[in-house]
Amino acid sequence: MLDYQAILETIHQNISKIDNRGIVASYIPELAHVNKNTFGIHLRTLDGKTFGAGDFQKHFSIQSISKVLALSKAMELVGEDIWKRVDVEPSGNPFNYLSLIEVEKGIPRNPLINSGALVIADILVSNLKNPKEDFLNYVRTLADDKSINYNNNVALSEKKTGFKNYATANLLKSFNNLTNPVDVVLDFYFHQCALEMTCSQLSKAFYLFANKGCCLQNKLHITNQQVKRINAIMLTCGFYDEAGEFAFEVGLPGKSGVGGGIVALLPKEFVITVWSPGLNNKGNSKLGMLALEQFTTKTKLSIF
Ligand code: GLN
Repeated sequence: MLDYQAILETIHQNISKIDNRGIVASYIPELAHVNKNTFGIHLRTLDGKTFGAGDFQKHFSIQSISKVLALSKAMELVGEDIWKRVDVEPSGNPFNYLSLIEVEKGIPRNPLINSGALVIADILVSNLKNPKEDFLNYVRTLADDKSINYNNNVALSEKKTGFKNYATANLLKSFNNLTNPVDVVLDFYFHQCALEMTCSQLSKAFYLFANKGCCLQNKLHITNQQVKRINAIMLTCGFYDEAGEFAFEVGLPGKSGVGGGIVALLPKEFVITVWSPGLNNKGNSKLGMLALEQFTTKTKLSIF
């Protein structure tokens, strides 16, 4: 039997000794206030056990991690029609590159880069009655936690400075791959990215991807096939131009955000979330990646 608590604590201790913790994102000004020395790690196994070390109960901005939850909701609402508007190929480019698969058609390469996530946001705006409220309730249901909320200051901060996202949305609009007004789609997207959650809340919210589409409250949201698709997309596209490195070092499907969070999972076994706000030069949590590499090495638990 693996002693998960001891493993997480050892990883926490190892990580605490590292001085070079990466750089906190500041292109969204509100994110720059975060203390670089925070570190949290949390594990939830499918047999209902939880383990945590460090700041695993502190809230942080989930940013691009939200793209997986948005994709899941969009698949639940419109099914396979999504793939007429977004492809599923890794981009090998940073998250904010346009990465359209065929420039003349305006189809983003995958739903986890910004251009693809904006198309998914457009689908949610079209198909939800009260988009921001309904999406928040969806995440609350998945995590079985009504206290989860948007940080409006972070959303506003990105609204003021998100020029690349405005450019991307306008280009998608010019190709008729956004049906709603650019401002409406971006307002929704900036809010989904500004969700604040803890490591333990994220481990709960991603539980359905390890549990055949069934969330913690035992509600079936997506089919087995949709779970397969989402996990495959996380593995191949979840870390932008570092997806290969993450598969190579960690060996799990996962998703990062510029708030410094990473969620990863082993189907039928566990969900693990780590948070360390300093990023590497690819925009992924520097120590988060290291911690997850240590976890799968120590436990010998990866999809490979
Ligand atoms: N809201 C951020 C952006 O669009 C999300 C990026 C990320 O977390 N990689 O720039």
